[in-house]
Amino acid sequence: MLAVTGVADIKTVGIVGGSLGGLFQAVALAELGLDVTVWERSAGRPDDRGAGIVLQPGVAWFLSMFCGVDPDRISVPVTHRQFFTRDGRSHHTLMRQRMISWGAIYTSLRDRLDVARYHDGQHVTALTSRPDGVAVEVGGAVHSVDLAIVADGSASRHRGLVAPDGVPRYAGYVAYRGVIDEAELPGELSASLRDRFSFYDGDQTQFLCYFIPGDFGTTRRRMNWVWYVRADAAGLDRITTNRDGIAHGPSLPPGLIAPQVHAELLARARTSLPQPLRRLVEHTREPFAQAILDGRVSRMRKDRMLLTGDAAFVVRPHTAASAEKAATDAIALFTALQQFPSVDAALQAWEKDRLAEGAALYRHGVSLGHRLGLSAPAAMPDRIG
Ligand SMILES: Cc1cc2nc3c(=O)[nH]c(=O)nc-3n(C[C@H](O)[C@H](O)[C@H](O)COP(=O)(O)OP(=O)(O)OC[C@H]3O[C@@H](n4cnc5c(N)ncnc54)[C@H](O)[C@@H]3O)c2cc1C
Repeated sequence: MLAVTGVADIKTVGIVGGSLGGLFQAVALAELGLDVTVWERSAGRPDDRGAGIVLQPGVAWFLSMFCGVDPDRISVPVTHRQFFTRDGRSHHTLMRQRMISWGAIYTSLRDRLDVARYHDGQHVTALTSRPDGVAVEVGGAVHSVDLAIVADGSASRHRGLVAPDGVPRYAGYVAYRGVIDEAELPGELSASLRDRFSFYDGDQTQFLCYFIPGDFGTTRRRMNWVWYVRADAAGLDRITTNRDGIAHGPSLPPGLIAPQVHAELLARARTSLPQPLRRLVEHTREPFAQAILDGRVSRMRKDRMLLTGDAAFVVRPHTAASAEKAATDAIALFTALQQFPSVDAALQAWEKDRLAEGAALYRHGVSLGHRLGLSAPAAMPDRIG
């Protein structure tokens, strides 16, 4: 006879947000035989944000076990870490890692999930706890589910239902980012960065870069760079206000940077970066930017509602662990629902485990930011909603 587990108590799961955090959960829970529905606010296929992601073990395991994808096939190897000095010289040490892109992970997850489970262009407007589940309001209709997973990102609208204390704060610096097709880079520049995870630590600034796979995991490679620069609250507003004067909140997508902000970025690159890295900034047609946020919650569960991914902890990118955290949230729930005799026991154990890991990553990210001189405890201004 099969043991009765937490899975037996639930049949339907509703997921708010269809980015990586929501998709990891959807794929894993569908694997358990649950009736999963994802509601994603944006319509159509999202942009491949161009974001490079360090491939960590949990994401690699997830892709291979749940999606049947060989992570090596959709990622790019690095063999060394390379450290630049201001005069452009560098030294390197052996360090094997693999780099993937947001789009390659997203595509693998979407390909795995039954299309009928994913509803895009659907904005979840309200969630209400009921004795044995949650009512999810979407486009005027109300759906009852046994379990609701809130995966609506760092600017989560629904986080407060579970953890009112979790609104992220601006950490006092931004990440400028850029992506360039390898074919557009001069050959000798590309060769000097190939197979390397390159860093430059300057005065209250850090630049890093590495190659990632092509758009949505295609084999053509792209150079991905990230440049952390301090900016006060007014500076952040300027950087993330687009060329038409529209404010974009905590992140400015590619193609929208204001000409004056772009010119200042190029001028700053000329005066403060080693020559090879400055050239990367100059070769980037559409730099984009993202505020660095700190978000910490004291709860991830209320009744049958869970927080996952960036809707729970928002950790600094120095940890290279945000996508990994979202994947392990899903793996841990998949495991707990099979291990514990009731859904409540499973969710309780899951929350304890995920709170501990989220808090540790949060602290680690903050301390890395301090060590790089990018922020100090006193330099944490207003909350960003
Ligand atoms: C620009 C950028 C660059 C990043 N770079 C890296 C990186 O280099 N390395 C790394 O590890 N991580 C990176 N991350 C973070 C990483 O992508 C996330 O941590 C991970 O994808 C988990 O995010 P999430 O799904 O929880 O939230 P998000 O990716 O923010 O997704 C939230 C989703 O919820 C949807 N949504 C919001 N409200 C509603 C609603 N009411 N109803 C329906 N849908 C809703 C949104 O449209 C969105 O699709 C980056 C994130 C961003 C934004």
